[in-house]
Amino acid sequence: MRTTRLPCPSKSQIAEGSGHSTVDGVAVAGNRGGRILWSVPPAVLVVEDDALIASSLERALASRGYDVRSVGSVADAIASVESARTDLVLLDLGLPDGDGMDVAAHLTVHHPDVPIIVLTARAGEVDVVLGLEAGAVDYIVKPFRLAELFARVSAHLRMREVLAHGSIGASTSGVSLGDVTIDRAARRVTVAGSDVALRPKEFDLLERLARDAGIVVTREQLIEDIWDENWWGSTKTLDVHINSIRRKLGERAGAPSRITTIRGIGYRMERSSGPL
Ligand code: CA
Repeated sequence: MRTTRLPCPSKSQIAEGSGHSTVDGVAVAGNRGGRILWSVPPAVLVVEDDALIASSLERALASRGYDVRSVGSVADAIASVESARTDLVLLDLGLPDGDGMDVAAHLTVHHPDVPIIVLTARAGEVDVVLGLEAGAVDYIVKPFRLAELFARVSAHLRMREVLAHGSIGASTSGVSLGDVTIDRAARRVTVAGSDVALRPKEFDLLERLARDAGIVVTREQLIEDIWDENWWGSTKTLDVHINSIRRKLGERAGAPSRITTIRGIGYRMERSSGPL
């Protein structure tokens, strides 16, 4: 993922919730991996006193399926984490009744398992954030791209899941693209509700493509991820697996494909591949 920060800081950079942010007419891909099907949507608390930023973050996170709420002060933030389930906190530092670090300090003591992502406008604050003796504190410097925010939020929630359960569990177990549903925990794939029997490598390959749905995944990346980075066999194996997956998903010659071949580069799983 690119991490280039955009010039001209502006609230419009986070004022969008469809998964793509548009700044100065430039579309920035922000939706990776399609829609995640959570058994229970992770609860994200936004602590931000700027109402415009708070509502933009709320909309954006809600569009990704998170159960999001926002507060605008230190006192309300502490009251909120004490009264409702909180899986992750997005934390502004400059709050009307104190410093966001007071919220972080409270979480560190009382809810050390809740990851905190500090939204900071000043690079100088980064040292303060990193100095925290908390379990999972990260920071994003404003202005930031939605794609970067989503990636961090998702990464921290997954890490939390791994720490809690030893693996990626039910809360991150599925992805649905059109009529294709992939259940990672059960290693089960269905098309329009009917089970599809995939071999292990085929499942891994489909799951890998679905994770970056709408984006081309290069042949090299696929081989590295699914087989082995030192794998030196024929890359024909990749094409054979893709063709087998297509067949098993019920694709026919001449019909639009769920998995598009980008000649010489790689493959792209389409986001909204409907029934054929
Ligand atoms: Ca503020």
